[in-house]
Amino acid sequence: MLTYKELIELRKKLANGGISLEHAEELFWKDFKEDKRSWRTKDWKERRAKVIKDKCEICSSKETLTIQHLSHPIKYNEHKKVVTKEYTRSFIESNPTVDKDEFSLHIKKNYDYIPVPLCPNCESRYPNERSRKTPRYLCTVCLDEFDETIYKPVDNLLATFFENEEATEVRDKCFISKDQWRNKHHLPTTKYWFQREKAKTRYNEEIRKETLLLSLDDNIKYLSLEDTITACKRCAYSYDMHSMELCPQCKEYYKGIQYPSCIQCLPEEKRKAAFEKIDFNKEMDEMHKRLGID
Ligand SMILES: [Zn+2]
Ligand SMILES: [Zn+2]
Ligand SMILES: [Zn+2]
Repeated sequence: MLTYKELIELRKKLANGGISLEHAEELFWKDFKEDKRSWRTKDWKERRAKVIKDKCEICSSKETLTIQHLSHPIKYNEHKKVVTKEYTRSFIESNPTVDKDEFSLHIKKNYDYIPVPLCPNCESRYPNERSRKTPRYLCTVCLDEFDETIYKPVDNLLATFFENEEATEVRDKCFISKDQWRNKHHLPTTKYWFQREKAKTRYNEEIRKETLLLSLDDNIKYLSLEDTITACKRCAYSYDMHSMELCPQCKEYYKGIQYPSCIQCLPEEKRKAAFEKIDFNKEMDEMHKRLGID
């Protein structure tokens, strides 16, 4: 795991080209486990000792103090999605049309086509299927009865799509991805994913570099212990640390954003009640843990 200073150094080098992208990625991912406590290095402990206050910033207790982060780093893959989306957008802007032959091949290779059934007489969509009567189908538009529906061949559907992307039948989700997800798509979304793949290939390096820079920023911010407060074990347990802010009245203690003020600034009676509630929650939690229903 890289230390705070090493992360800053790595970010600087990556941004100004002082290190190859591959090498930077290797360093970033070495021993790195998202959500794990592997960042608790000696270096982190030393800086933590400097940052931690001598009392809880919520209730002023001095019992078992911990550092609580008010924000958490966004995962690498989340950053990557956002960056890829941005590159796809600009790629589509400069390449709005797709090569018809290439796109047709792509569709046939990657999707199963489950066509919409049509009336063989008037080509109306979804004729009525009857479970008891024969012939099996009734077209409610032309009232024709028949045993077999017809389908629009995929090439015809594609031809329609290239002429008019807004056509009704183009909006049918009749393409099932052949991958494990078996997602249903209509042609406009398959076109988007096709273009996204192209953007990913064309801007592979750029996307990876930007994602890594953002991830480094996040991790540096997290390890800087900037956006943290000192909380006692009791408050750390009872409060949602993602939505804490400084109390507007005393500007000294922290409060949950759903409350108008911190515990200290509450009138005496309410303050007591708040502390009782915190204790009650803590007791309930401990009881649940003992009973194994946590
Ligand atoms: Zn506290
Ligand atoms: Zn019909
Ligand atoms: Zn206050």
